[in-house]
Amino acid sequence: MNAPHHASEINAVSANDTIGTIGSIGNIGTIGTFDANGQLAAERQRGRVAALRAALHAVLPPHCLLFDEEDTRPYECDGLTAYRQLPLAVALPENEAQVIAVLRACRALGVPIVPRGAGTGLSGGAMPVAEGIVLSTAKMSHIVAIDAQARTATVQPGVRNLAISEAAAAHALYYAPDPSSQIACTIGGNIAENSGGVHCLKYGLTLHNVLRVRMVTADGEIVELGGCAPDAPGLDLLAVFIGSEGMLGVVTEATVKLVPKPPLARVIMASFDSVVQGADAVAEVISAGIIPAGLEMMDRTSARMVEPFVRAGYDTDAAAILLCESDGLPEEVEEEIGRMSAVLAHSGATAIAVSRDEAERLRFWSGRKNAFPAAGRISPDYYCMDGTIPRRKLAEVLTGIDALAAEYGLRCANVFHAGDGNLHPLILFDANAPGEFARAEAFGAAILVLCVAAGGTITGEHGVGIEKLDSMCEQFTVAEIAAFIAVKGAFDPARQLNPDKAIPTLDRCAQYGRRKVEAGLFRFAQAPLVRHAKGEQDE
Ligand SMILES: Cc1cc2nc3c(=O)[nH]c(=O)nc-3n(C[C@H](O)[C@H](O)[C@H](O)COP(=O)(O)OP(=O)(O)OC[C@H]3O[C@@H](n4cnc5c(N)ncnc54)[C@H](O)[C@@H]3O)c2cc1C
Repeated sequence: MNAPHHASEINAVSANDTIGTIGSIGNIGTIGTFDANGQLAAERQRGRVAALRAALHAVLPPHCLLFDEEDTRPYECDGLTAYRQLPLAVALPENEAQVIAVLRACRALGVPIVPRGAGTGLSGGAMPVAEGIVLSTAKMSHIVAIDAQARTATVQPGVRNLAISEAAAAHALYYAPDPSSQIACTIGGNIAENSGGVHCLKYGLTLHNVLRVRMVTADGEIVELGGCAPDAPGLDLLAVFIGSEGMLGVVTEATVKLVPKPPLARVIMASFDSVVQGADAVAEVISAGIIPAGLEMMDRTSARMVEPFVRAGYDTDAAAILLCESDGLPEEVEEEIGRMSAVLAHSGATAIAVSRDEAERLRFWSGRKNAFPAAGRISPDYYCMDGTIPRRKLAEVLTGIDALAAEYGLRCANVFHAGDGNLHPLILFDANAPGEFARAEAFGAAILVLCVAAGGTITGEHGVGIEKLDSMCEQFTVAEIAAFIAVKGAFDPARQLNPDKAIPTLDRCAQYGRRKVEAGLFRFAQAPLVRHAKGEQDE
């Protein structure tokens, strides 16, 4: 990678002029400033917005720019809808040259940029920052090439995850990482979040399926990471970049691995009388030396909320359901289904059903894939957490979540990638009930404390975004956080790309430490460090 330019010229506005944005990482020259004379400030603000408009109009055609509130409103949040912020503008470049031009224009003006794909992220990673623009790569949605012999696809960042598999199907190939949002989410967003899915237990996460990324740094420099050969020379910056949540560069192209479509796949649906038994069965399957093509768990609340919605045939009396998939040659599948069934029965399964054909297999999965939207049937709002723990701790942590649900007085449905130990507790709440959202957030944060205590991590696949900045302080030491800040600074010295996301300031961690009450009585209630865009405060 070439060294990024120094950005001393970026901050045309003096540091004294800057206003803090959410959890400020540092001083970015911003367009909006306030001074003692309100009128003068308003004039300066108008002048700066006009300068931004002119600069963007100079590099993008009108149909690639949105300025009016009615047009920019849909970009005010991602899937974490509780946090909103209108951007000054939305730029929708159609090619890499336009991405570079937008980045350079913003650099000259000191305007922060938030990259965006489909906006399905669940941690606020694509939420705009105040006084910044959104740079959406959704229009860059061409599949550049499919190389069936090399089993690779080269795609632009706005290509939808599922569209890659659809294009590769003609060659009996597909792209394995399959987030439940795959119909909508883009490969650019997948790379930024290191997304996972049902098939990632066997086939790996995004990180394991992306060979090469072409990206543009904040100062408009093109950088290629990785390559199509088995290894690329130099430091493995591809691994640093994947999962960096749009903070290090804007993806403009990627080459991903394709895998042969297995001739057969079948899924077992197993019922258990207790969540603990189901969780223990997961550990038993893996320790029997089996790597299923998918190993997912749903508790009774989840099965009951989804069954009337999709009619998947779930056992709604069971305390927990496991879905275990096998794929491969028919004889391999036959043998593996037999072994998995035996392990599940030995682990206490009360009922075992195996899909008889492809239609039934898809029906069994449809409930799992639609679990998040189905939550809307039983609760006005839901908050999806994402944490990962060692598989052997599943039963312990699920029991802990149950206890927290009682403590916080909120219901929680569990539907998750059990084979990976990746939990997705869906906290059910009513945003219109005073204080309930703050309680849901506190409950979610307490779940992540449980995950860290169990030797796990505060995210499996949804990223940190703005949602888990405090939880980063729970997971990492000050020295580790300082190292993350240094990595960010090496790629983006002016901290213009997706500022205030994913990495907390050291100051924030210090405050977090002070807010932690000793003796296990962990609470997040004292100091609101994340500004609620709706204007409400934490309880
Ligand atoms: C119903 C539902 C189910 C989901 N299921 C899963 C699941 O099973 N597994 C999973 O991992 N996730 C899941 N998600 C979360 C989400 O779909 C993923 O995080 C996805 O990768 C986001 O892609 P996106 O295109 O929507 O990105 P966005 O939400 O637009 O952005 C996500 C992040 O990527 C950055 N970004 C976007 N495009 C670029 C680019 N071109 N260059 C650099 N940075 C960029 C943004 O700045 C942001 O930080 C689910 C979400 C929903 C709503």
